[in-house]
Amino acid sequence: MIFFLSPELEEFRQKIRRFSETNLEKNAERWDENEEFPYDSLKALAEEGILSIGIPEQYGGSDPSKLKELIATEEIARVDPNTSIQMEIKSLYENTLLLFGSEGQKNTLKEIVTGKKIPAFAFTEPSGGTDISGIKSIAKKENDKYLITGSKNFITNALVADYFILFAKTSENFREKGFSAFFVKKNEKLKIGKKIRQTGIRGSAISSLHYENMPVDEKDMIGKEGQGVKIFSSVLERSRLILSAGSLGSMERLYEESLKFANNRKSLEAPLLNYQFIQYYLSEMLKDIEASRLLIYNAAMLMEKGLPFGLESTLAKLYVTEALVKNANNAVQIMGGYGYTKGTVVERLARDSHAATFGLGSSEAMRMLLTRYMKKN
Ligand SMILES: Cc1cc2nc3c(=O)[nH]c(=O)nc-3n(C[C@H](O)[C@H](O)[C@H](O)COP(=O)(O)OP(=O)(O)OC[C@H]3O[C@@H](n4cnc5c(N)ncnc54)[C@H](O)[C@@H]3O)c2cc1C
Repeated sequence: MIFFLSPELEEFRQKIRRFSETNLEKNAERWDENEEFPYDSLKALAEEGILSIGIPEQYGGSDPSKLKELIATEEIARVDPNTSIQMEIKSLYENTLLLFGSEGQKNTLKEIVTGKKIPAFAFTEPSGGTDISGIKSIAKKENDKYLITGSKNFITNALVADYFILFAKTSENFREKGFSAFFVKKNEKLKIGKKIRQTGIRGSAISSLHYENMPVDEKDMIGKEGQGVKIFSSVLERSRLILSAGSLGSMERLYEESLKFANNRKSLEAPLLNYQFIQYYLSEMLKDIEASRLLIYNAAMLMEKGLPFGLESTLAKLYVTEALVKNANNAVQIMGGYGYTKGTVVERLARDSHAATFGLGSSEAMRMLLTRYMKKN
């Protein structure tokens, strides 16, 4: 229970929990085992109106509340990170367009909330995702079009997406505001690589993108030329909270599963929970869950009130994702051989958890960002 969340929001949480347990849990193992994109889950999220949360009504939304979007993501990740990552990508897409998009671009959200169209957010390049200034994709202006050449890597949804938000340099000199964002529809010039097979989040349709002189209309630039860094930073500070909420949901489930095991499994005729090593692991989890809740929802409240929240969002992302990885390892440890066996929730979530400490910026990148806040003061 978080005291500053209203009873209405807690009721909403219970509703999403019931929905996730009934509709998403049954397929969670299937997406992982078969490395299958979770189309059925996406359809269920659309039908339940969950994809329309966080979006204003005029663009097909049901409720613009970003707090509800966080709560929904937390509850979905508690049962299936392959589905909750769709909330993350939706959030990147919706935040980019709601903050900087044209009316035409914002109207595409109507197709996203129904699940008819699938979004992707393409930033990372084969040469690296941490160093923004090292980006090589370049968009050259020719009459009323930009011709974009380059590659991206690790793009979630690349294999199934209809609409892409793609970042490229608009000048050889990155520092002189030479970085911009584009709205790109799936097209012949956008070549998609093979599925990248990963350790976790294996249902993800993740791949590389390659484009050479791909024409994009001038009107499909997002915001203004040179606004890329501003767009990237404002969007990521919002969407990092969604990723953190998902990490919290997975951590809560790891706690529930390993506590259940520690209560039932016996050693020397007593439950594992009687032993101090196991008590230590479980109390670490409980401590991190509570701290993560406060970090995430405090940052989210600041965001809702229109106050600066970049520092709080960075701290939340760093703390929660590192806590998830640590506690996932400990959950496996508590369950011994069972935590390392296919078919257990802990084994699956432990593999899924590792992506969180580098998705939307690595822990090292978060520490570098924090240093910037320190230098400002
Ligand atoms: C499951 C998953 C989904 C993803 N989805 C997307 C997506 O949809 N769109 C997208 O654009 N990207 C996506 N990514 C890519 C992700 O954002 C990058 O992996 C991340 O930004 C790190 O970039 P990199 O992997 O190229 O590592 P690099 O940037 O090469 O870094 C490698 C390591 O070195 C560290 N490092 C780098 N530079 C420094 C430095 N200056 N100082 C200290 N340490 C440094 C990093 O922290 C990291 O630990 C996804 C990744 C995963 C795993």
